[in-house]
Amino acid sequence: MTSTTAPIPLKTIVIVGGGTAGWIAAAMLARFVPRATKIRLVESDAIGTVGVGEATIPQIRLLTAALGIDENAMLAATQGTFKLGIEFVDWNGPGSRYMHAFGAVGRGLGVVPFHHHWLRARAAGLAAPLGDYIASARAAADARFDRHPDLAYAYHFDATLLARWLRGLAEGSGVDRIEGRIVTAHRDGESGDLTSVTLDDGRTVEGDFFLDCSGFRSLLLGETLGVAFEDWAHWLPCDRAMAVACETTTPLLPYTRATARPVGWQWRIPLQHRTGNGLVYAAPHLSDDEAAARLLANLDGAAIGDPRPLRFATGKRARFWDHNVIALGLASGFMEPLESTSIHMVQSAVARLLALFPSADDTGAARDAYNRQTHGEYDRIRDFLILHYHANGRDEPFWQGCCDTPLPEALADKIAQFRAGAILTQDATDLFTDPAWLQVMIGQGITPATWSPLAEGLSEAQLDRFLGEIRARHAALAASLPDHAQMIARQCAAPSR
Ligand code: FAD
Repeated sequence: MTSTTAPIPLKTIVIVGGGTAGWIAAAMLARFVPRATKIRLVESDAIGTVGVGEATIPQIRLLTAALGIDENAMLAATQGTFKLGIEFVDWNGPGSRYMHAFGAVGRGLGVVPFHHHWLRARAAGLAAPLGDYIASARAAADARFDRHPDLAYAYHFDATLLARWLRGLAEGSGVDRIEGRIVTAHRDGESGDLTSVTLDDGRTVEGDFFLDCSGFRSLLLGETLGVAFEDWAHWLPCDRAMAVACETTTPLLPYTRATARPVGWQWRIPLQHRTGNGLVYAAPHLSDDEAAARLLANLDGAAIGDPRPLRFATGKRARFWDHNVIALGLASGFMEPLESTSIHMVQSAVARLLALFPSADDTGAARDAYNRQTHGEYDRIRDFLILHYHANGRDEPFWQGCCDTPLPEALADKIAQFRAGAILTQDATDLFTDPAWLQVMIGQGITPATWSPLAEGLSEAQLDRFLGEIRARHAALAASLPDHAQMIARQCAAPSR
């Protein structure tokens, strides 16, 4: 009989890159990996970070909890605000708007999900818009916020300040930061594993495990190990963004806004000291100069600085963990910021790594599971984003092209099920839950042919009362909350204000 023996710890983990991905990984590893393993992070100030990435989803609070972060202190340090969801404007045709708010939609009755009752009530002329039955959407509409068990929330923050703040946290926990530009990566002649990286001043940094957080360049996984990139431009056609900040306006909205434009869409992210804006567009349809002009013409306040162009490719790597390298963040792939998923994907990848953590004599047993789970997460998020583009109600050539593009099979099935009988079935790897899919499908004009026969159990009077109670409760909750800006001023104002 063989015996179970203690694992041999990794000696050194080298993190390449100090953007949001690198410093999230560094802070988490410093917290959870025993001190026998050294953690070193190499970054180059000369190269810098992508510098955008300011909106998050509620799962970010798992990260702050895991790191033992004081939420108020973090928001004060990053000019942060609260986020209750995303308002989508003009996606289902000019003048349309809906909210994808965080948290539950209404409440189920018996075994029947809420939306079946709502669809029945809507057909009978008894229902208010879906957002009236979602606590977060109701509070968002009034620009009110406080921490409350019924409100699911996330944050907006300044991405550069966040990386700086995380760096302080990680360095305080023993992470060794090395400044310098990596020029070469070295592999073991036999195993092909990475052994070290060399900097432009000749220094060498050795490690037995590497996290590639080098951004779009994917220095280790893409360039050194040659792992291919799977391009999704045919499904998600935007490949550029033009970003500019502008002065804040009142009220301070506790949500992101995503406004559809003739080509692509524009984000609006309110922070304490400024509002972040960006136009996401497709190069074949719009020049950079035209994109900058359109962005500047559609700001709520005076622009701060000049618009900054960003180029990206939408897609993922064929493997995320190859040999002794895991890519995180932009080095692993990218999907545009429509549902603010990138930072979450860094955090969930780090959680997955910790759950499957290798030892120095790792046999690669965990690699397949890691790659399978990460592919699943990527593919389901991709489908959710494609839904926004596909089910649009606009008539410009760019948007017509999005309607006409054949869908991935799983998404086509999901839409067909919803159209047929308002059926929503969540896949285990899907980050987005049924309430999220429901809000976007309804908001973008997908109308189910019918609802569950089980929803017929209530009389019309009972149905009316049931919906009315939920609506009244959410309205009362919203009315009881402080104004978002006042709440921030009291609890987490940035020092310079
Ligand atoms: P980067 O920020 O690019 O960092 C790369 C690091 O690698 C840098 O420190 C750099 O110095 C270092 N590096 C590179 N090459 C070398 C080298 N040779 N030697 C040494 N160091 C090197 N995400 C969200 O969650 N929400 C959003 O709202 C959101 N909006 C976005 C909008 C746009 C237009 C884009 C493009 C992205 C957005 N993202 C968003 C994604 C988010 O910005 C990134 O996922 C996140 O910042 C992680 O970036 P990163 O750390 O992987 O890469």
